[in-house]
Amino acid sequence: MSTTNDKVTRWVRPEIRALSAYHVPDSGDVIKLDAMENPYNWPEAMVDEWLAVLRDVELNRYPDPSPDGLKEILGQAMGVPADMEVLLGNGSDELIQMIAMALAQPGRKILAPEPSFVMYKMIATFTGMDYIGVPLAGDFDLDLPAMLAAIEEHQPASVFLAYPNNPTGNLFDRNAVKAIIDASPGLVVVDEAYHAFAGDSFMPELDVGSGKYENLVVMRTVSKMGLAGLRLGLLAGPSAWLTEFDKVRLPYNINVLTQKSAEFALAHRGVLDQQTQQICEDREKLMVALEAMGGIKPLPSRANFILFGVNKAGVTATGVFESLKAQGVLIKNLSPAGGVLQDCLRVTVGSPEQNEAFLSALINSLD
Ligand SMILES: *Cc1c(COP(=O)(O)O)cnc(C)c1O
Repeated sequence: MSTTNDKVTRWVRPEIRALSAYHVPDSGDVIKLDAMENPYNWPEAMVDEWLAVLRDVELNRYPDPSPDGLKEILGQAMGVPADMEVLLGNGSDELIQMIAMALAQPGRKILAPEPSFVMYKMIATFTGMDYIGVPLAGDFDLDLPAMLAAIEEHQPASVFLAYPNNPTGNLFDRNAVKAIIDASPGLVVVDEAYHAFAGDSFMPELDVGSGKYENLVVMRTVSKMGLAGLRLGLLAGPSAWLTEFDKVRLPYNINVLTQKSAEFALAHRGVLDQQTQQICEDREKLMVALEAMGGIKPLPSRANFILFGVNKAGVTATGVFESLKAQGVLIKNLSPAGGVLQDCLRVTVGSPEQNEAFLSALINSLD
């Protein structure tokens, strides 16, 4: 008699069974600095106004399957050139998945530098594509010769470049990114999830006026701007590509609460921008404090988080992580990823009070 497990083993694809599900730790009552979330709420009056908008939402109706108004507002807010198309996703994660589903065939490849955003590899696996990871150089910038050689050898259907990169926080050399776009036979996706904190972008390169790239698309999300709970991402690029990606989109992928809330939030853009500005200033303060601390080595960041290595005798990154947790501060331990991340931790920039609490806990943990 076969058991349920036998059935599962027989039918679920081996590469799926080999995965571990994306793990989000239960944070409970801690200072949560592990997930690049914006720490701020909205002013009370704005919350009331938002709730008034939600009152009129018709939950009994399907949402607008292609919310042109929202695309227009979001496209403008993100600086999408006028002649480029916009595609919305349930978070940029879903956009990565749509791109992969549209390109996937047995033997086709997704290529990305490593370490980078883990979903590139996971979604390649979900869609039956091969994944090629090319190690970053020692300074965490792109190893351009290695990238070009891998592109030549593997002819990837798509290359994913996070700009700035997660988990390292740096912006790759702009000319190296351009060289990769030039050399790539397939699509290059520049993932600008941290654009609000970066002060640099490939969005203008999409402009046909400046334009030369027939294989570039640029991805953004509202998640790191303070709207992670909405699940809304945007892909900008030539309509020839986006028309195809739109065909694999599930019809109602952006729910009505997200549509209305995003429109509302973008109409109050000043509040989000001010929060972002505050986070950038606090990132610099946090960086100064970390640089002054012995036993750790922070990396320059153009995002809303800082990666730092632990290099003190007798202290491990995992030890520091556990000590912080015991003191009520949750950050991200990257040691399990191994390789160049062996002794690394990543902290999200929080409110000034949260950053202070993190710094005191960190000093304790290094004792
Ligand atoms: C956080 C993150 C995303 C995911 O964004 P969602 O829109 O929340 O799905 C995408 N890319 C990178 C590099 C990220 O760090």
